[in-house]
Amino acid sequence: MLLRHTTAKEYKREALTINPAKTCQPVGAMYAALGVHGCLPHSHGSQGCCSYHRTALTRHYKEPVMAATSSFTEGSSVFGGQANLLSGLDNIFTIYNPDIVAVHSTCLSETIGDDLPQIVDKAFKDGKVPEGKHVIYASTPSYVGSHVTGYANMVSGFVSQLAEVSVSKKDQLNIISGWVEPSDMRELKRISGLMGIDTVLLPDTSDVLDAPMTGKHEFYPEGGTTLEEIKSMGDSSHTIALGEFCARDAATKLEIKTKVKFSMREIPIGLSATDRYIKALRRYGKVSVPHQIDVERGRLVDVITDMHQYLYGKRVALFGDPDHLIPMVQFLADIGMKPVYTVSGTPGKIFGPSMELSLKGRVPEAKYMNGERADMFQLHQWIKEEPVDLLIGNTYGKYIARDENIPFVRYGFPIMDRIGHSYFPTVGYLGGIRLIEKILGALMDKIDATCPEPKFELVM
Ligand code: SF4
Repeated sequence: MLLRHTTAKEYKREALTINPAKTCQPVGAMYAALGVHGCLPHSHGSQGCCSYHRTALTRHYKEPVMAATSSFTEGSSVFGGQANLLSGLDNIFTIYNPDIVAVHSTCLSETIGDDLPQIVDKAFKDGKVPEGKHVIYASTPSYVGSHVTGYANMVSGFVSQLAEVSVSKKDQLNIISGWVEPSDMRELKRISGLMGIDTVLLPDTSDVLDAPMTGKHEFYPEGGTTLEEIKSMGDSSHTIALGEFCARDAATKLEIKTKVKFSMREIPIGLSATDRYIKALRRYGKVSVPHQIDVERGRLVDVITDMHQYLYGKRVALFGDPDHLIPMVQFLADIGMKPVYTVSGTPGKIFGPSMELSLKGRVPEAKYMNGERADMFQLHQWIKEEPVDLLIGNTYGKYIARDENIPFVRYGFPIMDRIGHSYFPTVGYLGGIRLIEKILGALMDKIDATCPEPKFELVM
């Protein structure tokens, strides 16, 4: 009994979050910045914040995460961190020579009122930024939003501060990706490549946070969206933004700045969301869907059909990030499962209506919440009230899974006690097969471990 204080009876809570289903904004800002080639994330705050953000990412990706910090002392906490950031930028360009420094704020620098646009402007005027180099910024106070908001704010910072409009249009699509794994980003590129569409994917952490061991440390690995690609986003024919929470703001700002129109789609998790994504690629890329994509879709449908008896009617509890949960819940309902409980610590009014759309009335008993009080304590209480057959979420779910003896599929951020997420995609049709494989594996392991001997089957 690890979570022995969780009671089935719910008490009304006004101002208390217990075990939040989210982490802090700068973690997302740092992840987004790592998806840009030659970019060094910079945390404008105390060393402790920066260490925590780096650690959170390293624990999940099992890779070193490079980032700089303004290293606030007591003095900067009182008088402001301008001097620290200015000398920090000077040192960073002299010692580490990045193409771009992506500065994000923290609780402390926001609370004392540091004005990042003004400080960055001063850095340029004072000659702290060498010719041809860039410094962009995003406001990421962690007492509002979540790591998802931080990711969204940093991606917006890149497009609004770096995208340009030149004299000629390019025959390319922008894909602004929600927070997905490096493996998923690689899969998104593979799909658009199969369809014969030139794309700019922003951000792109493939070959950054899943870089191969070569025996040589690369401070700036070869992956990441290049500066030239980001600049060219203002010349693209259209933008497809994946995920309301992570990508809408960036797509909107890009449209305002460059007049490149955008369409919103969910992150292509599961059958229906991938169908919609492929349709959007076909429409805006002006191509037809190749046979290979049909084959991959057919395989996913085949797996769903073959294994339906193990999936049908199973009650599922989920927690994590809204851009993952919205298509995931639809996928679970599509394959006959019952996503009965869903919580996300990330606030945003669109969550409820999006969940309604995903469920389409197919699970009348479904409960879902997001924001401050949508924490893992709440989810655990719901599970205690009426149990579920499966739990899906990040590593923090293992306490509930162990206490309630529920099969557990690790999905989302952070996953600190397993690997695989960096290497095997869960987006697209192939990703859908991987999700089903993980779900079935968890359900069948429980059957094997607990069924009476006469029902113990070799063939399942
Ligand atoms: S919540 Fe605020 S103070 Fe804590 S690590 Fe994040 S930015 Fe720093």
